[in-house]
Amino acid sequence: MLQRRNHPSLDLVILMLLAWTHMAVTHVTGGVTTAGTMAMVGVAGVVGGLCIVSLVDQARHRRYVARAVTQRQAPPLLIVEETKRVVQQTAAGQPRPSGGDTTLDPDAHPRLTSTSDHLARLDHMLLRKPSSTDVVGAVTMEATRTTDIALSEAQAADLRRSIIDRIASRLDIADTISVSANGRFMLLIERVDSKTALVDHIRSVAAELARPHVLDDHSEPLNVRTAIAFADTRTRCADTLWRQARTTLGLTEAGDLEIFGGSTHTARIERTELRADLVRALRDDQLDVDYQPVLSTQTGEIVGFEALMRWHHPSRGVIGPTTFLPIADELNLIPDMGRWLIDKAATQLRMWDLDHPDSELTMAINISGAELADHGLAGAIERICARRSVLPSRFILEVSERSITDTSAPLLSALSSTGARIALDDFGTGNRSLAELQEMPVDMIKIDRAVIASLDTGDNAHVASSIVELGELLGKPMVAEGVERPSQAALLHRYGFQYAQGHLYARAMSPNGADALLDQASRQQWRIEAPAAAIVH
Ligand code: C2E
Ligand code: MG
Ligand code: MG
Repeated sequence: MLQRRNHPSLDLVILMLLAWTHMAVTHVTGGVTTAGTMAMVGVAGVVGGLCIVSLVDQARHRRYVARAVTQRQAPPLLIVEETKRVVQQTAAGQPRPSGGDTTLDPDAHPRLTSTSDHLARLDHMLLRKPSSTDVVGAVTMEATRTTDIALSEAQAADLRRSIIDRIASRLDIADTISVSANGRFMLLIERVDSKTALVDHIRSVAAELARPHVLDDHSEPLNVRTAIAFADTRTRCADTLWRQARTTLGLTEAGDLEIFGGSTHTARIERTELRADLVRALRDDQLDVDYQPVLSTQTGEIVGFEALMRWHHPSRGVIGPTTFLPIADELNLIPDMGRWLIDKAATQLRMWDLDHPDSELTMAINISGAELADHGLAGAIERICARRSVLPSRFILEVSERSITDTSAPLLSALSSTGARIALDDFGTGNRSLAELQEMPVDMIKIDRAVIASLDTGDNAHVASSIVELGELLGKPMVAEGVERPSQAALLHRYGFQYAQGHLYARAMSPNGADALLDQASRQQWRIEAPAAAIVH
């Protein structure tokens, strides 16, 4: 049984002796594995383990010994290029199971260290790290080919050598480079002044790596993803740090560098969770629609509503569309969600028609870029309207200025042909010229709320007013969105707005809330109780 000892100076002497023995052996054999060196490294590992056990615990010691002993025993590897990833394979051509220990082909590259050595060094660095200001970071990188050109085995070897040369050219000789079983590079930088310095340094390594690598008949630019996990005062184990770095790499996009636990990393984890949740949300009926009234600036009457999607997340509460729509877009869920919303809004409109036959409310629906590109949308609107007994002409389809492209005109015309009106939403946020906008078959202009917010505020007011004047030049009815202050409302007439929407009048509300509002409004000529200055006659 191994016992804890209390002689750190003796430990140090033994460690130095072992390090020297190890270096001497490696030097003599030129890094080539032989039975002799295997035995010696094994012994060195066991004795080294004795030293370490006095500093930490026996479990750590066993891991260290196991690594030291096994690192020289795995069969030689031949690193070849397969598909687009630069991967390692065994001599028999079988990919290694990830996480397995590896011994490198002696020809692979003189700067490569085995993963076991690498982990042992990191373990040492963590043990050595005396204070929270010492920086130890596990860096992992993945280089992916960007061309489909087939590589010969010799070219693959050249590319691999070039990659490691590039990495090595940016590192100190004391720094460690190894390749994990699944072809990712692991770097350990010995002397680091600060976390920022390490990040900057590693960014420069990644940039160097991404530069095209010249092979005999072409060049290979690479996509490089990088992740760093920094040790904190509680980190005692190399495996933990590497696991954190590996997990972070899985969430890193090509060309990016992510830090474990950093804000981008946390945001990405959240996004990954939301992706899975959103698929369940559709299945479990967690989506809902809120309705925000739109008023006439002439009469102050409610003329209609805008349908706005909401997600009632079981643990996070209500999530707004600006958070979940981009995720839905990535998952290609927008067309289904859009049709679901149109059906829901048509059903609601039909119910309001039955409750208030004299109301003739309009229903504004937001159409995203993905829906606009869907040639089946016009037909779907007609079918849904027929099923719910409402005319398509009751709908206003809001298309954001930013989602309009050069090919949008025929798609907008197809939507118009259903009888629905088209509103150009978020006007003032795109950069289309007046001539281009005049070509677009749109019926209404909805000025973005950022523009409305600037209308009554000093410095930016002239910019806002020129955007509104541009909207006026299109000669279509204009809606002011996001009206919050009476001073904004007071300007609506001067700028020629026919319609207004915003918190000043009413927020988006649940269907029950909208029912109650309509009940109340129907008793007062369809006007809602808004501050006196809100409606300018
Ligand atoms: P949008 O179409 O410009 O919708 C107006 C947004 O401004 C809504 O946010 C609304 O709640 C908010 N808003 C209204 N009045 C005020 C105000 O006075 N002050 C402030 N600060 N905000 C106000 P919401 O519901 O978060 O929607 C954001 C965007 O998400 C929408 O912008 C629209 O582009 C998109 N969206 C919402 N629902 C859907 C949907 O069902 N389908 C699609 N494709 N997009 C949707
Ligand atoms: Mg809108
Ligand atoms: Mg808008």
